[in-house]
Amino acid sequence: MRAELVMVGTELLLGETVDTNAAFLARHLADLGIDVYYKSTVGDNLPRIQEVLSRALGRSDLVIMSGGLGPTEDDLAREAVSLVTGCPLEENRDVLRWIENRFIERYGSLDAMPPQNRKQALFPQGSEVVDNPVGTAPGFWLEKQGSVVVALPGVPLELESMFTKSILPRLNVRRTGEVLITRNLHFAGIGESSLAQRLEDLVVQQTNPTLAVYASGGTVRARLAAKAPSREAALDLIAPLEAEIKKRAGEFFYGVDGQSLEEVVAHMFLELGLTLSLAESCTGGLIAHRLTNIPGSSEFLQRGYVVYTNQAKIDDLGVQPSTLTRCTAYSPEAAREMADGVRRKAQTDFGLAVTGIAGPGGGSEDKPVGLAYIGLASAGHTIVQKHFWKGTREQIKERLACAALQLLLKAISEVKSG
Ligand code: AMP
Ligand code: MG
Repeated sequence: MRAELVMVGTELLLGETVDTNAAFLARHLADLGIDVYYKSTVGDNLPRIQEVLSRALGRSDLVIMSGGLGPTEDDLAREAVSLVTGCPLEENRDVLRWIENRFIERYGSLDAMPPQNRKQALFPQGSEVVDNPVGTAPGFWLEKQGSVVVALPGVPLELESMFTKSILPRLNVRRTGEVLITRNLHFAGIGESSLAQRLEDLVVQQTNPTLAVYASGGTVRARLAAKAPSREAALDLIAPLEAEIKKRAGEFFYGVDGQSLEEVVAHMFLELGLTLSLAESCTGGLIAHRLTNIPGSSEFLQRGYVVYTNQAKIDDLGVQPSTLTRCTAYSPEAAREMADGVRRKAQTDFGLAVTGIAGPGGGSEDKPVGLAYIGLASAGHTIVQKHFWKGTREQIKERLACAALQLLLKAISEVKSG
């Protein structure tokens, strides 16, 4: 099946709104194994929407439209579909009543309903209404001469919920016999290019399953996708490739699919009954935030300090003033004393500390922006790791939080394996 996306909205052409809907739709169609050959963006202009739509219908089996289903003058998607397919617009009474009821529920009477909202009950003849559980504009599914046009509203929350609930299951049924199963393997502590290099021949040889490496927010993901007659058969195709990837980069692997680094770390702490305290300078509490997103984290995360100034590092953690003047706060010595200090103060099994220069200012030749140290104290020994990244302030904070969680995971995995 060949699909095409038609994104409607002048705001998209002006760059005022970022087209997240196309990315969402494209990603889901790819997961279904449906090829997307074209994507067009067009303003709120009837002749131009018609032009784009008729071209799309001429070359694709499935056209998914986003936007232009609102009640106002410039919402023209339904008119365009009607003109291009030759299916006149008809009022759907059930939908009209549903729209009226939403106004009554909200405002107590129909007086508040602008007359142009009636327009949202108009659908090209022969189309099936696609319910919109989160807004007032329903969408529609229209089959005409072997092609399908799906029209969805532009509000991302509405489009996403309607697509997931109503369109995805239908497309799944239509697809030709095969399922496409994807499995994501997550890695931390290794860069995208280093992982890609380790897997280079596998990426080059790929056919089924396919293999691709992506970086996202400080971690790296290998996406394996297999097509087969059944889910089990697809997973059987994935298994040997997954094993080979883990053989080559297993020390950086931490989880699959929706698993996050903090989730894996948290579960391991809970499983082993160990405790943790944090001392964060550069990341400003980001590590604590990520860990406390995991339910049950209060069982192991005892304390977290945001120690931004030198004085805070001295007062709260007992870092030696002389260390900070001699070596600065961006040094292995400071990271070590912070980790030891927080572990001692909080009386935990592990003490994790981070310090670094997130920029854009504050760097120097020997202590450049992007330089960071992680200290991890546990019974008997303390390790310090040095890092250097290029990036924006937020990217550096995010990378540092990831690297710290990765170091923690490594240490706690060693405890687990004895
Ligand atoms: P519409 O359904 O055309 O009335 O669009 C409603 C709102 O959804 C617009 O004001 C935009 O803020 C948003 N929107 C429309 N199209 C997109 C898109 N492709 N991606 C993200 N947001 C969008
Ligand atoms: Mg619009």
